[in-house]
Amino acid sequence: MEIIVAKTAGFCFGVDKAIQKVNKAIGKEIIYTYGPIIHNQQVVKTFESKGVQVINNLDELDHLPLGTIIIRSHGAGKADIDVMKSKGFKIIDATCPYVKRIHKIVEESSRQGNKIIIIGSPLHPEVVGIKGWSSQDVYIIDTIEDIDNLLITQEDTFCLVTQTTFNFFMYKEIVNKLQKNEIHVMIYETICSATEERQLEAIDLSKVATKMIVIGGKHSSNTQKLYHICKSQCEDTFLIETAEDLVLNVFDDNDIIGITAGASTPKNIIEEVILNVRRTKF
Ligand code: SF4
Repeated sequence: MEIIVAKTAGFCFGVDKAIQKVNKAIGKEIIYTYGPIIHNQQVVKTFESKGVQVINNLDELDHLPLGTIIIRSHGAGKADIDVMKSKGFKIIDATCPYVKRIHKIVEESSRQGNKIIIIGSPLHPEVVGIKGWSSQDVYIIDTIEDIDNLLITQEDTFCLVTQTTFNFFMYKEIVNKLQKNEIHVMIYETICSATEERQLEAIDLSKVATKMIVIGGKHSSNTQKLYHICKSQCEDTFLIETAEDLVLNVFDDNDIIGITAGASTPKNIIEEVILNVRRTKF
């Protein structure tokens, strides 16, 4: 049996930075995160045990003692941050710089009168946050079919940005169709390079692997996309959150096992999975 671990598996730079900011803030004052800091239950639970509370909506602020709210790497809408500040909470902004760049593009372009198109999942917190920086109408496109539902007039001008973790290949298809429809649109490439590299490596790896393991949180968008990308190349692709989810009797001695992981998967979980696979007895 051969095990090949993707070089890009695990924390990306944005998640790593956000985690460092939480660690630095712990113990100094009351710390909240606006939503789970990353889409990984194990990490969130560890922080909870150290006193970090997760806020899920702004109404909760009225019943909580003042403290510091950490904005996670996905970012948040401008109005939400303004409400937190107006209620007296301090803010530590751990928005990933790549996401922050999208906020600036959307804020500036909508100020100039352009409507905004976001390619991404409408309910994903990053997309919700990006939407919150526009002063114009926002259209969210999740699938190529959504383009047909856009209400467009000849006078409309658009600015297009993409959720940083969106599937690169689907993004290309959507943009091609938009361009064929002759929509006046300024396109900003905003899929983050870490995501693109991870997805490209996952494709290559799942082409040579006989079985693929994708490790990551069930609510992690980039993990879900990695899973689908790997599954399209390698039928025996397994999505797990921790080593405990691993079913070892599916592997055999002739397997080439590829392992990759989402951007919010800690190193120790990846190492534990590798160790468990190595210990498999045939
Ligand atoms: S996946 Fe990219 S955009 Fe998202 S947090 Fe990581 S580095 Fe930032």
